[in-house]
Amino acid sequence: MKAEISSEIQLAHLLHNMGIPAEAVLVLLDGNLVPETAIAKKGQEAEILFYKHVPPLLSPQEPSGHWKNAKPSVHCTHKSQSPSKTGGKKGASPACPSVPVIYLPYAKEHLCKKHFCGLFEKRVKRTIRNYSMLNAGEKVGIALSGGKDSFALLHALNAVRKSLPFELTALTIDEGIPGYRDAAIENASRRCRELDIEQHVFSFKEEYGTTISEIGKKGKENLCSYCGVLRRKILNIKARELGIGKIATGHNLDDVAQTAFLNLIRNEPLRFARFNEPISSSDKFVQRIRPLREIREKEVAAYALLNGHSYNSGCCCPNARNALRWSVRHSLNSLEDSYPGTKSKVASSFNSLQKIVRDSLRGKSGELLFCKECGEPSSTELCMACRMLGGL
Ligand code: SF4
Ligand code: ZN
Repeated sequence: MKAEISSEIQLAHLLHNMGIPAEAVLVLLDGNLVPETAIAKKGQEAEILFYKHVPPLLSPQEPSGHWKNAKPSVHCTHKSQSPSKTGGKKGASPACPSVPVIYLPYAKEHLCKKHFCGLFEKRVKRTIRNYSMLNAGEKVGIALSGGKDSFALLHALNAVRKSLPFELTALTIDEGIPGYRDAAIENASRRCRELDIEQHVFSFKEEYGTTISEIGKKGKENLCSYCGVLRRKILNIKARELGIGKIATGHNLDDVAQTAFLNLIRNEPLRFARFNEPISSSDKFVQRIRPLREIREKEVAAYALLNGHSYNSGCCCPNARNALRWSVRHSLNSLEDSYPGTKSKVASSFNSLQKIVRDSLRGKSGELLFCKECGEPSSTELCMACRMLGGL
């Protein structure tokens, strides 16, 4: 979406006047990502990138919660924390002179590309450490769709590898969604070649003999459920065959908060406890890790964009709008606008409750079964993927 600037205006106000919440957008001026607090000049053109949801209308007089305290800054506000550079005094060095690319409302910080990307990678590393996700030398398979989340994850893990060495392989699944997945896969493959990361591409057509668009043509609803279940099965089988110890997925903080809400709405406490992982472990189930789970979607998108992700490729799956997740995303963005910090709080509640439910089920949930059709781990006699494929 493009906007002609008719008079000098702070982008936050322009977006606000257009009824667009900060959490939902990235703004580009003349090809550069800028913070919402930047001033746009008369005659300039701003490109506003939405990701995956239509923004709700804000009340016209009230600035969004995120923008209330946002003061424009022409410089990066990052301060060196290195005592060696400051004669022993922490944080006493001058701010970085570079132009900021993002405003982090909760920290009231404007950061340039270098400092934002550095902070992002530090947080990914901290998450990996806090959740004991990885060990040095392990073989990690990244579920790389080519969308912004997995693109950001690829870059961040590649950066983290410099200080925590592990093997990285990309696993890409082509679900067969014409006009959407092709461009994203092309983008993903190009970046793997540039970063010299091995990539394996698998398709629904080859593995199951059908695609998501063909399943849609058969009149099946809830295509995202088919897509998710069938994709997870291929990932698990192929990762195991390739000797991969962990599968890293690009789920961000918003995804975790949305999943928590969805499971409550659907009254599915067991799915809540599992979060796509069985409670009982098995050698046949490759463990999932989510290194972006504590980072907001907007920051993941900004990091991807700053590292060369193209939004023209794979921006929006045509099936996304029909999913309940879409409405939940919409509502959470609205809540976050009015009550900043909502998503973090929902995600933290989810983490605590998930631990309580998992602990209470340990030892009681019975042995993990294996599907009588395909032999994959399952909580029932026939796994969900075989049930879905059988019903086509
Ligand atoms: Fe699959 Fe749904 Fe995601 Fe589209 S939006 S790729 S159908 S899970
Ligand atoms: Zn099965």
